[in-house]
Amino acid sequence: MLYARCAFCGYTAPLTCSGKFMPHPATLVSLTTMGPTCPACGPLPMVFSCPYMHMQYLYIPGVSEMPQQGYSYAAVAQVQPGASNQSIQSALNKALMPLAEKVGEGAVEAMFGQS
Ligand SMILES: [Zn+2]
Ligand SMILES: [Zn+2]
Repeated sequence: MLYARCAFCGYTAPLTCSGKFMPHPATLVSLTTMGPTCPACGPLPMVFSCPYMHMQYLYIPGVSEMPQQGYSYAAVAQVQPGASNQSIQSALNKALMPLAEKVGEGAVEAMFGQS
């Protein structure tokens, strides 16, 4: 399962789609070579909005382009269904580690929020 974490409030949830063109019941989004993909709608835009209306880009390690400083990104990680919140958070932090090594932890916190 793909989990995303809001950079603004830390809200963490599985990535779902409820319809891009036509509304449909919330469906889990999976990762394909096309990026995040909904079984009903196909490839999805790399954006994430949490239930508190925080809009941001998705950052999927290995799929997304290098994040740009000055923008906000939701970290995304692949996690086993039923994982505890603690292991989800640590998977998300781990996903950001290579980035932190490149641009520094301060820059990662500015783009992804405090973890
Ligand atoms: Zn939020
Ligand atoms: Zn969809």
